[in-house]
Amino acid sequence: MSEAAARPVKVVVLGGGTAGWMSAASLAKLLPGLVEVELVESEDIGIIGVGEATLPHIRGFVERLGIDEASFMRATHATYKLGIDFRDFGRIGESYIHPFGSFGEEVGGVPFHHYWLELARQGLAEPIGTYSLAVMAGLANRFRPPSDDAGLASTYGYAYQFDATLFGPFMREFGLSIGVTRTEGKVVEVKRDPDSGDVAELVLADGRTVAGDLFIDCSGFRSLLLGDTLEEPWEDWQHWLPCDRAAAMPCAHVTEEIEPYTRATAMPAGWRWRIPLQHRIGNGYVFSSQFISEDEACATIRGAAEGPVLAEPRVLRFRAGRRRKSWSRNVLAVGLASGFLEPLESTSIYLAQMAITYLIELFPQQGTIDPRDRDEFNRLVDMEYDRVRDFLILHYHATERDDSEFWNHVRTMEVPDTLTAKMELWREAGRIEKYSDGLFYDASWIAVYLGQGVEPKRHDARVALPDPRQVARAMARLQEAIRDEVAQMPGHREFLMRHAERLAPQP
Ligand SMILES: Cc1cc2nc3c(=O)[nH]c(=O)nc-3n(C[C@H](O)[C@H](O)[C@H](O)COP(=O)(O)OP(=O)(O)OC[C@H]3O[C@@H](n4cnc5c(N)ncnc54)[C@H](O)[C@@H]3O)c2cc1C
Repeated sequence: MSEAAARPVKVVVLGGGTAGWMSAASLAKLLPGLVEVELVESEDIGIIGVGEATLPHIRGFVERLGIDEASFMRATHATYKLGIDFRDFGRIGESYIHPFGSFGEEVGGVPFHHYWLELARQGLAEPIGTYSLAVMAGLANRFRPPSDDAGLASTYGYAYQFDATLFGPFMREFGLSIGVTRTEGKVVEVKRDPDSGDVAELVLADGRTVAGDLFIDCSGFRSLLLGDTLEEPWEDWQHWLPCDRAAAMPCAHVTEEIEPYTRATAMPAGWRWRIPLQHRIGNGYVFSSQFISEDEACATIRGAAEGPVLAEPRVLRFRAGRRRKSWSRNVLAVGLASGFLEPLESTSIYLAQMAITYLIELFPQQGTIDPRDRDEFNRLVDMEYDRVRDFLILHYHATERDDSEFWNHVRTMEVPDTLTAKMELWREAGRIEKYSDGLFYDASWIAVYLGQGVEPKRHDARVALPDPRQVARAMARLQEAIRDEVAQMPGHREFLMRHAERLAPQP
């Protein structure tokens, strides 16, 4: 990028999928007057069209852009999501919910789960999920937004499940309304500045060119700018996350119920998602092609459909990993162009959102990229990816399943040292590694450890200090308060019907 800019920085976004339109709209909205944004996309190539389950952070994203929740939900056929129901991961027949919420409360500076572990040792504890409002509301198919006070009703968050093919267009409409320019065309060549090596302009199939100061590569798995043009090396994580395909297929609802959670069911060669939207259910089998063929996976997902099938299974191919740097020279990648971690914990859109947030914080407002800002961006993005990676691997590795080659492989494989350290800390003393940024805090790790049968040898000795009977009574009162709170919540579908401004028109 050249001389100090008195003029706005010209940002070119390549790609009009979820990542492209999220990036373009955010920059235009949050850096007004500082940027001029042009987005190039090709209808012929199209978008990946999956990515339906999100994390609670998406709410902050939508709010920050000033988008009204009801119109967003209506446009994307969205439902609410309180967490993920994991089935058959630790052992076949067992399940647990990873909630967007806490388990109990800290007492005397000691986290709740230590009291639970002590009660469990005495044979008095009920499943940890019974101490979480988000889990119990989810299991009862009930929903209401959390309250703002500090009471029990504020101990959870929520995200959305939406139609991926509608989210991009919704963001596109929003982006265009706030000044993003859209150019339709297929990029066939990328020209670089002969002196600096920076990307200078994109050449379209019909000969038009699009020049810019900063390029955001949102070209999906193609990674046309960061990968193909700048040849940023790929760090492959397939040895830890062997799933490399998904067979995706929508089906119709068959009951009145709409679950306020995503379901992930472990399968012989991977796992299968079930994402209930307003108008249909999204299904997909994420699998490893080393262990099952595409045809078998398609047949399996077809056989698993609860309702009439709305389209034939579509196979998507991917690899787990990421570009070593997400920002190199004057090109940074957001979304699939920067890397991919499979959708087991619905993290991909979150990773795109965080990259955009970090870019806005570190944006070269004066027109010149400071390499220290670029390094900081790369450090933050790496940290986000590494945290998610370890958490995903845990779901596969912490298992007793030995019923298929796939599970034997993931159960016995070497895992990253960073994950080994986290698991040792838990196994020794029931402790969770502390960090203050990135994804997945204590409740998430506790949900998966306990849900998949990873038990610690010890727990915090301070739990012996209060009178154990008092602790047991307090825990029983919490369960009762949760039951009462859940009983007062409307059903998920009922809540949506009551707030009909959130409902998409019936086809
Ligand atoms: C099986 C599967 C399930 C997933 N589930 C989830 C989930 O539940 N939750 C979640 O958060 N994420 C999920 N994801 C990830 C999610 O789909 C993506 O993060 C998200 O859709 C963003 O994609 P993208 O915009 O980076 O790429 P794409 O949607 O592929 O968009 C790429 C864009 O680049 C354009 N383009 C490419 N080449 C050119 C060219 N030469 N010229 C012009 N334009 C070009 C294309 O036209 C398109 O507009 C899932 C992914 C997969 C594979």
